[in-house]
Amino acid sequence: MKFGGTSVGSVNSILSVKRIVEAVDEPVIVVVSALGGITDKLINTSRMAAAGDASYENEFREIVYRHVEMIKEVIPAGEAQVALQRQIGELLNELKDIFQGIYLIKDLSQKTSDTIVSYGERLSSIIVAQLTGAEWFDSRKFIKTEKKHSKHVLDTELTNSLVRETFSSLPKRVLVPGFISTDKMTGEVTNLGRGGSDYTAAIIAAALDADSLEIWTDVDGFMTADPRVISRAYTINELSYVEATELCNFGAKVVYPPTIYPVCHKNIPILVKNTFNPEGVGTVIKREVSDPQSKAIKGISSINDTSLITVQGLGMVGVFNDDIAVCQHSFNVAVSLLTMGTKVAFVVGSHRAQTGPVVLRMHQNGVVLGSVIVQHCFQNLIFHLDEFEGLIHALFVFAGHDGHHIAHKAHMAVNEQAVMRTGFRIGLACLRVARRILRHILPCKDRFDPGH
Ligand code: ASP
Ligand code: MG
Repeated sequence: MKFGGTSVGSVNSILSVKRIVEAVDEPVIVVVSALGGITDKLINTSRMAAAGDASYENEFREIVYRHVEMIKEVIPAGEAQVALQRQIGELLNELKDIFQGIYLIKDLSQKTSDTIVSYGERLSSIIVAQLTGAEWFDSRKFIKTEKKHSKHVLDTELTNSLVRETFSSLPKRVLVPGFISTDKMTGEVTNLGRGGSDYTAAIIAAALDADSLEIWTDVDGFMTADPRVISRAYTINELSYVEATELCNFGAKVVYPPTIYPVCHKNIPILVKNTFNPEGVGTVIKREVSDPQSKAIKGISSINDTSLITVQGLGMVGVFNDDIAVCQHSFNVAVSLLTMGTKVAFVVGSHRAQTGPVVLRMHQNGVVLGSVIVQHCFQNLIFHLDEFEGLIHALFVFAGHDGHHIAHKAHMAVNEQAVMRTGFRIGLACLRVARRILRHILPCKDRFDPGH
């Protein structure tokens, strides 16, 4: 079971977590995020300190206050509370010294930054362990990363064996900090990326062949569309791993995308539930889903304000969809990939597209195909930045056996409509009929609604 930042962010929600966890009869491993907003605050405080802004101390004081108050409110007064305050106090003192060091030398390395953010989960997890009477285990000892292309990536094999070793005899209730890890060579603190607590839980669930993975969050599960855009959006009760992955990669912020793979591999169902509405059914993600026949469109998600970069030319012949990975030097954002015959398109955030030259490096099966500056020719590949700005990159998931049929029709209709209404020629669309998933690029003003 994993509880996110909002679930452990307030007195009421954390007490709800306590009730949910205590209602479980089977042995359970609980993974928690930092108290809601704390990771951002830790990053912000370190940036302020590094910039020589003395008011970082105020930010830090707020971090201290949040934890101290939380303990006062949720742990009954007495010896246990005093001991916990002392333990938290020690961690906060370490943190204070680190911030002061940064302020003095005005330098903030990645390594220091990773150390700082790790305190969020270290603090929250000992509070929740005490609150739920669970045994605390340090995930830095068994979630191991290695450095690849200057990024920390999970060493799956090592991690799996360490997780199995650690939990070879499983106490009734275990509490583990999410998100944090250590480098397998140096032992330095690393993490699994923002939102990574979901991933921690999935890694442990997969390593131990758990019966299920529960992700407890602040929404009722996956919605048919973004409820902030479409008010009539409702919860989708069942999704396949593929559908959920596609929706997650497309801005549905319910689950951290890497989470799905390890459990999908082991065929462990994921249950997404709402800590603030534990009675709600939530969403189950599993291999086989029963197809409701009543709704044509199962879900829509989208990423606003994107730009399209297309690559075409003979060089693209034989370069297939899943074999291509793109390294982006100018973008920090993930690039989505669409293909159609000899044309490959990348969708990137608009604001990024405007700054500096875009350098793309393409790999196929680990071999670098070429490195190119957009708008220049290279090895038969012509990269050019389409002038399309302010696009919505949308993803439709269709239900039903004839989903591919509907997907095809929808593709035609959307295309036609967009051209008719806006005179806008859609850059590229990709139909993945077998999976009943349609990706589409739309002008921003052409918002869509499942009711239409
Ligand atoms: N606390 C981390 C973050 O805010 C990890 C997580 O919430 O899953 O990104
Ligand atoms: Mg989260």
